[in-house]
Amino acid sequence: MFSSTKYSFLSTLRKSLISNRWYSHGKAYDVIVIGGGHAGSEACAAAARMGARTLLITHKKETVGEMSCNPSFGGIGKGHLIKEVDALDGVCGRICDMSGIQYKILNRRKGPAVWGYRAQIDRKLYKRNMQNELFNNTPNLDIFVGGVEDLIVDKPNEYESKIKNQLSCKGVIMNDGTKILSKSVVITTGTFLNGHINIGLTIIPAGRIGDKPAIGLAKTLSSLGLRMGRLKTGTPPRLKADTINYNVCEQSAGDDPPLPFSFMNDEVWIKAKDQLNCHITYTTPGVEKVVKDNLHVNRHVMEEIRGPRYCPSIESKVLKFGGRNHQVWLEPEGLDSDLIYPNGLSCTLPAELQVDLIHSIPGLENAEVARPGYGVEYDYVDPRELKASLELKKVGGLFLAGQINGTTGYEEAAAQGIVAGINGAAFALDKSPLILSRTESYIGVLIDDLTTLGTNEPYRMFTCRSEFRLSLRPDNADQRLTGKGYEAGCVSKQRYDKMKKIAEELSHGIDLLKGISKPCSHWRKLLDITAVKSHALKSAFDIVDLTRGVTIEKLSEVIPELKPLTYNKELLNRLHIETIYEFLTKEQLEEIRQLKQDESYKLPEDLDYNSNKLQLKFEEREKLLAVQPQTIAAASRIPGVTPTSIIRLLQFAKKEYSVENN
Ligand code: FAD
Repeated sequence: MFSSTKYSFLSTLRKSLISNRWYSHGKAYDVIVIGGGHAGSEACAAAARMGARTLLITHKKETVGEMSCNPSFGGIGKGHLIKEVDALDGVCGRICDMSGIQYKILNRRKGPAVWGYRAQIDRKLYKRNMQNELFNNTPNLDIFVGGVEDLIVDKPNEYESKIKNQLSCKGVIMNDGTKILSKSVVITTGTFLNGHINIGLTIIPAGRIGDKPAIGLAKTLSSLGLRMGRLKTGTPPRLKADTINYNVCEQSAGDDPPLPFSFMNDEVWIKAKDQLNCHITYTTPGVEKVVKDNLHVNRHVMEEIRGPRYCPSIESKVLKFGGRNHQVWLEPEGLDSDLIYPNGLSCTLPAELQVDLIHSIPGLENAEVARPGYGVEYDYVDPRELKASLELKKVGGLFLAGQINGTTGYEEAAAQGIVAGINGAAFALDKSPLILSRTESYIGVLIDDLTTLGTNEPYRMFTCRSEFRLSLRPDNADQRLTGKGYEAGCVSKQRYDKMKKIAEELSHGIDLLKGISKPCSHWRKLLDITAVKSHALKSAFDIVDLTRGVTIEKLSEVIPELKPLTYNKELLNRLHIETIYEFLTKEQLEEIRQLKQDESYKLPEDLDYNSNKLQLKFEEREKLLAVQPQTIAAASRIPGVTPTSIIRLLQFAKKEYSVENN
């Protein structure tokens, strides 16, 4: 690592980039994003939307937007993240709407607050559409192909260290020695830091199959004094579609109509009838036998390192839950692909034993394995090293997002990517960072969990992680976040105007429904219903809320003033959801209000947790010192820190320190 001057940089850069056609400016950048995966794509697009001169540096042009594992986006909890990324004008939701081959809302039997928007994706189409978006439709963004080896990090001078003992990141050094300067850097290197893949007993240094690992950058991060750890994940073998016997499998079709992820789209690109089916089969005792008999040749499984709890390998399922038949989803990889992704069969056995395992599953007896599964082990940075803006506490201007922070999944990566991209740009442009709280978004839940609690296994999102899931619904992500994104500068006027228009229409609809009041006896006669036994006045809004089966459409048949509300189906659905959740969310909003008072209280960076005045227990002090929470709310969520200690902490901070707290 070393500091450098702009002058030598410009000439070196021009010479070394002459062959790189996308690189056009030859000047220092506001933001450099390292890695063109799911976090990197969102990060660079967000930074560019903020108006920052942005450079995406990635290993290969052709792997930008690559789906390293499953050919699907969304699901329970993950769908919420995509909706929120879209509400901030992110790209992945829109790209899914133009690349899916089957769209399905999971959890339909439960309330809309926990519906999981999900799509089976055509891998090639996704990549092509994402590349087109980034390479051709994103002003302010340049792309440069290469591997980043090191960072340019400045140490504070004597004067600066008195104010703040912080390093600052000023750019990157490529593996040919080229230096590129920038005001901030966002690292999104996924599973590449010191990555190696395992198949059986074979170990190959790689970030994923066919891609070299990032060794130099891993060393740099470690040398900055960051706490780092090691995690693992894996992917299943791919099967030839025409060698599977689907007749013995269950079939799973897409929704009709297929619903889009993006608030900007009314429909997806594919027609309901053209969607592809998925199929379901189950493992057998034969699978268990292959796994158990061959543990000695399966290095990945015997490692101590933690793998994904919620997307486990078939080996860990067999070892933890033996004697069960586990579900295997057979998912098509694309419209013109002859490959099937057997979701649930991630495994790291030697290739020939993977064939035996596959052949012991009904429907797969003659299936041809086109590519074996494999596992990958990699370094990650303890996310407690990060602020809620995703900037490192120890290195100013250096942001991390995606799997490097200990998460797993495209959606978790995209969610962090958009925040890191926005804040990388905000840092460079001298704007305030965008901080999303857990009371207003799942993205806030994700970042708060990571930065305050850390993780020692790959973290994925679920709706149960949010205390406020009744109000943090997929249908209202635009109403929660688009305005905030617009203020931050990452949302277009067009999207903002659309959100405002919907807000007005919703508010008008709610007023209309609330404005029509009748005694319950009238409602009973009018609608021929027996429910709602009270004699009190009830509004049309209450009636939809309280009476199962009475929809706004049904009401409009007897109350013509409501007819206009039924013309716009999308609005009608959203109004209906508002009626269901209003009472529940009111209660939750009160809780949020109270928590927000705490959340807004910033703790001083130099707070003396060792002070006797705090009367902290030893473990509480240790945990607070390790996490260094930025707010009272963050402190209150550290396991083991009692509410009484939190109150003392607040009183102590208010009394002993003068921190600007609006
Ligand atoms: P990635 O999408 O991996 O992107 C990293 C990018 O950084 C790549 O483009 C790479 O070329 C680039 N890069 C890295 N180092 C450098 C460097 N030094 N210089 C320039 N560019 C660099 N998720 C699940 O949810 N379930 C699973 O079962 C699952 N299994 C997986 C199995 C495997 C084998 C792998 C590899 C991943 C798996 N994932 C799984 C994870 C999922 O792919 C990731 O969570 C997601 O892609 C992470 O996104 P990201 O942007 O952080 O990193």
